[in-house]
Parts: sequence; C-alpha cells; structure tokens
Amino acid sequence: MLYLEDPRLPRLAPAQRPLLYTKLERLLLEWLGYTVKLREVGARDLGSEFTRYDQVFARSASIIRNTDLDPAGPLGAEKLRGVIARDFRNRPLATVARYLRAGTLSSQAEAVDLAQRQFISQLDELRRSPLPDGQPFFNSAQARLNSFAHWAVLMEEITEADFVLTNSMIVGADQQMPIYVIARGGLTTGLTDNNDRSPYQTATMVGLFPFLSDAPVFLRERGRIPDAEILDVIATFCLHEMGHFFCRLAEHYDHPNCVHVAPTGLNYYTWHQAVRAAGPCRLVHQITSRF
Ligand SMILES: [Zn+2]
Ligand SMILES: [Zn+2]
Repeated sequence: MLYLEDPRLPRLAPAQRPLLYTKLERLLLEWLGYTVKLREVGARDLGSEFTRYDQVFARSASIIRNTDLDPAGPLGAEKLRGVIARDFRNRPLATVARYLRAGTLSSQAEAVDLAQRQFISQLDELRRSPLPDGQPFFNSAQARLNSFAHWAVLMEEITEADFVLTNSMIVGADQQMPIYVIARGGLTTGLTDNNDRSPYQTATMVGLFPFLSDAPVFLRERGRIPDAEILDVIATFCLHEMGHFFCRLAEHYDHPNCVHVAPTGLNYYTWHQAVRAAGPCRLVHQITSRF
C-alpha cells in the first residue's frame, strides 16, 4: 500500500488507515478466499509523488494526450459524444436508462444526448466541490493530479506498491470511460490496470474524496456516510477493485447487489449496504487477461 495525500482535501485520520487495511484483509479472505497482508510502504504528498514521475509522464506524453480529453477544448464536444456513443452502442437501452436514471429512453441518440448533458453538468459540479477552506476541488494548475491518463500511466509503471490510496480522485473526460464513469460525470473511483513489472501483473488505485467529501453534489447523490461506517464503505469499494486485481474479473453490469458491479452514480453508501446484505455473489463472473 502507498498512501498519497493532497493536503488541501479531507483525509482519514492516520490511525484509520491500518483499521481500513484490516477490514479489507478480512473481506479478501471471506469473500474472495485470499489471505493477504496489506502493508503500507509509504505515506507521501500527492503532488511531490507526481513530480517524482515527471520523466515517466514525459515519456508517455502522447499516450496521455490521446487518452484524456477536454470537453471544452477544440472538438471536445464531438469527441465526448463519440466516447459516449461507442460505449452505449452495445448496451441494451434499459441498462443505459438505469445508469442515467432516465425512465424510458426511445433511442440511442436520445440516450447519448442526455448522457452528454448530464456529464457536462455533473463534471462541472464535481470539480467545483467546495473544500473546507472554501476553495474548489479542482486546481487547474495541478490538473494532472486528477487526470485519468496520468493515473493509468502511474499504475502501469509503478513498482513501489501494488495498491495506491489517495484522498483525491480521478475526475475528467477520457477516451476509455465506461457507462458508470460517464453517468458519474467523469469520476473514476478506482482504477486497476495492467502492470508488467509487478508479480501480480496489475496495480490498483482508489480515490477516497468521493467517500470523504460532504460537498453538496455528494450529499445529494450519496447522502451522508455515518462516521462509524465510512471505513466499511471504503473497504467494500476496495474489494470491488481487488476482484479485478486478484481474480482478474472483468467489469460486470447486471448482477444484482454484486460487489463486482461498480456503484451506479455516486451512491456508494446504499451500494455498500446492498452488497453487504446480499453477501458474495454466486453468479458466474467473467475473467479478462488484459484490462
Ligand atoms: Zn471495476
Ligand atoms: Zn456477481
């Protein structure tokens, strides 16, 4: 485990992190059958850690440029529309409607229009999430700290840890967004990617801001997570990522109350409650060789 902290953002108390790791170890054993000892190898400043990877990011500059997209930039709206249309093409309209909370949708075109409008407005609101000091979450001078492409490169290259926790989050538009990220306005809560340098061949990050922030967008979409339950809610979400990490499970979309189906919207708390109440899912899960 490597913990990276943005000092501007809310955080877990340092003593809570070992408690979180213990909760996750128990879930890994009871739900996935893995005996795991999670050990923190460092707790560092997020911005400084990204600076240490400057050369790696520079080497991957063209990948980064072709992965992230700016919806407000030249051709941004068309590119975003293309990403959404490509993801929706092979999904039943009923699934799309459920993620967009749209009632009935009459066509793919209507679904893409609606998703694009929802995406832009929620991305804007997420980035403007007020911090305890009154500043907005998103700092354009440090945009890479929230960039999907930078985090994906970091997960592909990192050797100092297998699992990175941060009190920040990935939020923005990128070419690889699946429906649940599109429907959340570009928020990627966790990312498990291939890592050819790792004995596990993979590395994971989880961003804690969506669990720790009580900004209006989170209170409205997620409700308040009781203090006594926050570590359990985060542990359930980490278990979702560990299904990718240890079992190489693909993303699932249609199992009821299954930990291997990512939360719909920002509703992490009720998702956690439903998953825990249902227990381990008995349905067959698809395995993937590459993420
Ligand atoms: Zn997932
Ligand atoms: Zn399942």
